[in-house]
Amino acid sequence: MASSAVALEDVPSVDMMTELLRRFKCSSKPDKRLVLIGPPGSGKGTQSPVIKDEYCLCHLATGDMLRSAVAAKTPLGIKAKEAMDKAMKKPSCEKGFILDGFPRTVVQAEKLDEMLEKQGTEIDKVLNFAIDDSILEERITGRWIHPASGRSYHTKFAPPKVYGFDDVTGEPLIQRKDDTAQVLKSRLEAFHKQTELVIDYYAKKGVLAQLHAENPPKEVTVEVQKVLSS
Ligand code: ADP
Repeated sequence: MASSAVALEDVPSVDMMTELLRRFKCSSKPDKRLVLIGPPGSGKGTQSPVIKDEYCLCHLATGDMLRSAVAAKTPLGIKAKEAMDKAMKKPSCEKGFILDGFPRTVVQAEKLDEMLEKQGTEIDKVLNFAIDDSILEERITGRWIHPASGRSYHTKFAPPKVYGFDDVTGEPLIQRKDDTAQVLKSRLEAFHKQTELVIDYYAKKGVLAQLHAENPPKEVTVEVQKVLSS
């Protein structure tokens, strides 16, 4: 056994029971492979945990494994492909996954489809977090993040219980360096130029679902639930 692994007898019973219950609950859920598309600040990270828990999916964020491929502008580089293959085989991905922030280009979307086809699967649904650009600056500049979990807060729209600290762990929150009005502008330009074509790509395949991402978080959650239960 690897030195970092925890012996089963040392796992607290309550953790084991929680995990067993989760697996039992999840065994009856249908498989789902989802893509979340939307500009920065549209609420993807806020909705992901809700979708993940309800449908027993794993959350695969670009940041975790695909950033290098995206930065190198390789469609879906060997490294990224390997990382993705591996990630999708984790037990937590057994019922499917949520891809958040990927694919960003049509070429990446095509490569992803090829990869899934080889596994005999496909993307079931793409949630389009449609929102007007004008709303995003306030969302982005007020965003606070708990780095370890990725949980996001907002000074006005989703304040933590204690100012500056994560609700769950009590650890300090941070503001991302690129969460400024100026960086947002260039990220939005890239989004409109490249990622909107990805939306068309999935619309043509008939898997696109539109969300009203400008609505309050709870309303967006209800919309997501409706889309995913249909
Ligand atoms: P993304 O992951 O798409 O970049 P986030 O989920 O991190 O976006 O949301 C950006 C910011 O806006 C966060 O501070 C979040 O708390 C807040 N937020 C998310 N959804 C909503 C919403 N529906 N209404 C108002 N604020 C929201």
